Amino acid sequence: MSSALLVSIFNDVIGPVMRGPSSSHCAAALRIGRLARDLMDADFQEVLIEFDRNGSLPTTHESQGSDMGLFGGLLGWDAADERLPGSPQALRDAGVTIRIETVDTGDEHPNTYRLTLRNPRGEQHTLIAISTGGGMMEVIAVDDFKVSLFGDYHETLLSVIGNGADLVKRVTALGGVDEVVLHEHCGRQLVEVKAAHFLSDETIAELRKACPILSVKRLAPVLPIASRKDTRVPFTTCEDMLAHDAGRNLPLWKLAAEYEMARGNLTEAEVIAKMVDIVRILRRSIQQGIAGTHYDDRVLGHQCGKFDALMRSGRLLNGGALNRITLYVSALMEVKSSMGVIVAAPTAGACAALPAAVIAMAEEMELSEEDMAKALLASGLMGVFIATRWAFAAEIGGCQAEGGSAAAMAAAALVTLANGTLPQAVAAASMAFQSMLGLICDPVANRVEVPCLGKNVLAAGNALSCANLALADYDPVIPFDEVVETAQRVAGQMPRELRCTALGGLSMTKTSLAIEARLAAKKTAACGAPTCGCAR
Ligand code: SF4
Repeated sequence: MSSALLVSIFNDVIGPVMRGPSSSHCAAALRIGRLARDLMDADFQEVLIEFDRNGSLPTTHESQGSDMGLFGGLLGWDAADERLPGSPQALRDAGVTIRIETVDTGDEHPNTYRLTLRNPRGEQHTLIAISTGGGMMEVIAVDDFKVSLFGDYHETLLSVIGNGADLVKRVTALGGVDEVVLHEHCGRQLVEVKAAHFLSDETIAELRKACPILSVKRLAPVLPIASRKDTRVPFTTCEDMLAHDAGRNLPLWKLAAEYEMARGNLTEAEVIAKMVDIVRILRRSIQQGIAGTHYDDRVLGHQCGKFDALMRSGRLLNGGALNRITLYVSALMEVKSSMGVIVAAPTAGACAALPAAVIAMAEEMELSEEDMAKALLASGLMGVFIATRWAFAAEIGGCQAEGGSAAAMAAAALVTLANGTLPQAVAAASMAFQSMLGLICDPVANRVEVPCLGKNVLAAGNALSCANLALADYDPVIPFDEVVETAQRVAGQMPRELRCTALGGLSMTKTSLAIEARLAAKKTAACGAPTCGCAR
């Protein structure tokens, strides 16, 4: 398997650190925008964005944050940049004109972005990319050349005519690059060089002596963990991991660290330290959520402060640790909806269940941040097994892909906190995922708040119950990999309307439509522009 296709816990499962309601909209779009900006050397004044009529984006690109992320990326910003909510205005202030159109292109993937960028000097480039869930994306075409670019390399793109094969040989002979690919389209050629660094100006000047090079573009990586040629990981399925463990009964977190060390060329200490950093970000966000957040364009206001007060004064029903888990879920969801910093774990919509379960339970058990990090690592490995063969995108799998994955991952994490065995952690994940199959995605008013809050609470509560079942050696019956396969099969049987298009389920209730209209009117009044998707 090419290293570009190898899932990384920090790239694909626990991350990105970001702002916005949906990772498959905000974070992925931001990465696409940054690559498009690089393709134009940050010099453009017009951007045309096209979405296929039958995809999910015509109905969700604005309310779920694709616009905010994409515009932020076009400005060169980071996914956690505090200016992101103002990216439309900032792009307009920068003199860039944006047009968003719905077209009939028959795109296979429901989350396909088609961008055309121009500058006044007549330079124009196109880029087509898909958002694959949890903030991950793949650029599938550049200027009509079919490519496969994940943002995990420094990419140098050399445009040539006729001498591409020779140039490939010369670049390969230089050494120090991971992959050199020749793309051809209608008599034109593009040489793509994937490496840990860009080809330098001096190297390109040397190459130009032998091969006329029409243009050079440098696309910087957008993922935290880079890829390398010939990367090998110890396993990619749960079954293989259990075979690799060979009865040693290593803790799941240890196997997760082994995986990520191989994937990212990191030491165990580096892997744990990265996850501890994430734990600290999450704990800050939880406190911020409980203290209270404000944001105009959302369905729900601040609710978790009252939950906290009732919990502290003993006026809630006795849910044990589940009450603190529920509080933390609620706090993180409020931070997400107010454009605060969250960690997509595995997605922004389902950002709360796993971190809340781990942090609340660890606090109840008086465990350390390193213990929390190890539990998140364990969950991350279960996420790797999901993302390797499937996806976290609700547009593909409904909420079973987001909430279901989060529940499975959280269950394994909770068993890890309790020092359960490896088979128990895997059993907990299997049982938790089984209970979430078929869950639809139907966000109210096209905002990722209702029923998302409830679904995160459901995922966390389910994870706690399944962790306890597993600790008591209940039999999951169906192995984890088969449950993932089943979720994928069920996704194929779900109608498009129930997969994050806001065209079915609760999204179509009278109340949901009324809230959506009210929020749209409020936004129009605030910015003085119609809700047409232009860069307002
Ligand atoms: S319903 Fe589930 S999948 Fe859909 S937006 Fe909400 S959390 Fe995400």
